[in-house]
Amino acid sequence: MNRILVIAEHAGGRLNPSTAKCVTCARAIPQAEVTVLVLAADGAPVAAQAATLAGVARVVHTDNPANAQPLAAVLAPQIAALAGPYSHVLGPSTTFGRDLMPRVAALLGTSQISDIMAVDGDRRFKRPVYAGNAIVTVEVTSDKIVGTVRVASFEAAPAGGNAAVESAAPAAGIPTHTRFVSVSAGKSDRPDLQTASKVVSGGRALGSAENFEILYRLADRLGAAVGASRAAVDAGYAPNELQVGQTGKIISPELYLAFGISGAIQHLTGIKDARTIVAVNKDSEAPIFEVADIGLVADLFQVVPELERLLGAG
Ligand SMILES: Cc1cc2nc3c(=O)[nH]c(=O)nc-3n(C[C@H](O)[C@H](O)[C@H](O)COP(=O)(O)OP(=O)(O)OC[C@H]3O[C@@H](n4cnc5c(N)ncnc54)[C@H](O)[C@@H]3O)c2cc1C
Repeated sequence: MNRILVIAEHAGGRLNPSTAKCVTCARAIPQAEVTVLVLAADGAPVAAQAATLAGVARVVHTDNPANAQPLAAVLAPQIAALAGPYSHVLGPSTTFGRDLMPRVAALLGTSQISDIMAVDGDRRFKRPVYAGNAIVTVEVTSDKIVGTVRVASFEAAPAGGNAAVESAAPAAGIPTHTRFVSVSAGKSDRPDLQTASKVVSGGRALGSAENFEILYRLADRLGAAVGASRAAVDAGYAPNELQVGQTGKIISPELYLAFGISGAIQHLTGIKDARTIVAVNKDSEAPIFEVADIGLVADLFQVVPELERLLGAG
């Protein structure tokens, strides 16, 4: 029996879909018994959501005012204190998990396997290297396995579970050297980039933050999230949190619309798992056309308004 501990990601009392994807990864491990751990100020509502995921045997929540914000320095010791009986401790390879899981691994005296994209056995996993250009199979030799799950590689576990929910007392000695001061996050009514089914994305070709507005308008017509290449972010046309790619977000939408993006490998690694890629680029030789399912050699400043007009008319 492999006992897997999945660390829940949540905010505002809602379970992030990344947790359901981690559960699918956990269930792929042979003879898995999956427990979800919710660390929160008041974890019961999130635990109740996790309990409905198919394949989850148990949900444990540890309630503590110190857990009101997901500070890695505060959460990691609590996870390490509870990790004893588990063979695997998994978290999502989102910003939350990338921050948290290496600390958990360090506290448990083991190394971390990052970006698990497939499970080949209870200690064997596949993960991408060289910006997704190659896939390596790694075998973990340490007793306890700590890893992050590449959420774009796994479907969310469906509903239908009815796991037992229990609470665990907070660990003693939670560090106080790190405390929450404030969070600065972009506010948007658009779908979350990492979980959106449609994404409209723009590159350097947009030329300015003002021009980028045409993509926001198109995205709103489509009910899509907005993404950007690093060149567009570095130039200040779009905020950091919209960056897609190796050093941005790894996404897996049903539909990815790329406007004026050349298709550098570091960008493509972020959209490898997109179902349908549509590219609009003036240059017929642009590498994005090698991965696009539908390609249009055209000026985006003509195509985007035209698309918007057609969608508006529809
Ligand atoms: C370590 C490292 C990490 C990186 N991480 C990332 C990452 O996470 N994400 C990322 O995106 N990049 C990343 N990069 C940068 C990456 O290498 C590219 O520089 C970047 O993706 C290019 O962005 P772009 O396609 O918008 O710009 P460009 O490469 O300049 O492409 C602009 C494209 O727009 C087209 N175009 C111009 N005008 C129009 C028009 N009017 N209509 C239609 N098409 C037009 C051009 O033909 C061109 O193909 C990284 C690089 C490094 C070294």
